[in-house]
Parts: sequence; structure tokens; C-alpha cells
Amino acid sequence: MNSKALHKISYGIYIVGSKKGDRYNGQIANTVVQITSEPLTVAVSINKQNLTHEFIQDSRVFTASILSTEAPMTLIGQFGFKSGRDLDKYKGVNYKVGVAGAPIVLDYAVGYLEAEVVKSLDAGTHTIFLGKLLEAEVLNDAEPMTYAYYHAIKGGKVPKAAPTYIAGEIAGEGIKEIKEDAKKVVMELSKYECTVCGYIYDPAVGDPDSGIKPGTSFEELPDDWSCPMCGADKASFRKLE
Ligand code: FE
Repeated sequence: MNSKALHKISYGIYIVGSKKGDRYNGQIANTVVQITSEPLTVAVSINKQNLTHEFIQDSRVFTASILSTEAPMTLIGQFGFKSGRDLDKYKGVNYKVGVAGAPIVLDYAVGYLEAEVVKSLDAGTHTIFLGKLLEAEVLNDAEPMTYAYYHAIKGGKVPKAAPTYIAGEIAGEGIKEIKEDAKKVVMELSKYECTVCGYIYDPAVGDPDSGIKPGTSFEELPDDWSCPMCGADKASFRKLE
């Protein structure tokens, strides 16, 4: 069996929100899927250990904000690599409360869904919640982010794509020699991995969300630079051989 076939499945990137009493929580999920059109239902698969799971089980409602390709790693990190048990994830985030009383993140969202749970399926580590759509809205015409885009462009774990990425950038200026030189130099710079969340800093990509240009070595990063995904400091990174 070649489980890599699973990587060929396309997904999006969503912030799934819910509530418990007067508390809100949300998390990044890639498994928001429309199941039927009459009635309109959507399903989401949530890890049982996540606080959002507890909240959905309690309130029986969930929302899904459909993120755009413009969504910064800081937002994805806030909802994907931190726990609502430690902080209020919605602090500093533009959101509204939907008809079901659950929070809907509006920042970098192209649209959103609100659903009421009508069924749930125990899937071992996860629960699949089937929700009847209560509300849905399109917010703008920005491009929805796919899981593949998130990995390849936003600095996920696809470092092999990076040399091509920078070569393409510089080739756009039409200077072939510089392109070859830059490619060589950048490929010699080491990648560093965040030991907290697994984010890989690739000098060929830099950290565009924080204004770090491609070609910046890890050593050249400012001392106060932190992991764009989880916020860990530079000391939390280890060099990849
Ligand atoms: Fe990290």
C-alpha cells in the first residue's frame, strides 16, 4: 500500500469555531465537506482531544470560516498550533457571532458556514460531526486556500519546492546568471525546524508574512523573530542536516 496516494486528495483550510456556555473556541481543520444538498449538510472531522471537540459536543453547533490564500501563518498558527485551554484564540481577531451563537472568524475569510449538528460518528481518534446548514455567506472574491497551497507556498513541509520557488521569482526579472547564483547560495543555506510545532524555516522562502525576504539565512533573522506558526523563539529551532 502506498499511503502517499492520500496526499493527492485536495482539501481546503478552515477555522472551525464553536462555543460552550459563554466561551468560544476554534481550530484549523482541513476536513470541511458538503455531504448533501437537500437538505444542505456539511461534515467536519475533529480530534477528540481538541477543546473545539468538547465545545461542539456541548453546544451542538459549529461554524467554518473558509480561509483565503492571503491568510498569514500567524493566524493559522494561532488557531492551529495553540490550545484554547491556554488562551482566548479570538482575542485580537475580527469575528462575529452567528445565528447559532458560535464565533465566525472574518479575517482572511472568503466566506463562512454555520451548522447545527444532526448526527455524529465515532471515528476512533476523531468524531465526524454532520451539521445541517443554518447560514452561509460569501464575503469576497479572494482565492480560497487549498491544503496544497498551504504546504507549498506558506512554508509548510515541502522544502523541495523551495529552490524552484525562488528561481521562478528571480527569473521573472530575466537575469539568468543571478538566478543561477542565487539558487546555488540559497540551496547551501541550512533549513531549521521548530521543535515545538514542526514548522520548517527555509532560507529560500524566507518568512514573507514577517517581512523576511527569500535568501535570508536563519542566522540573519532578527533576535526577536519567532516561529510564524506557534510563536516559539529562535532558540526553539534546530538545524536540519
Ligand atoms: Fe513553531
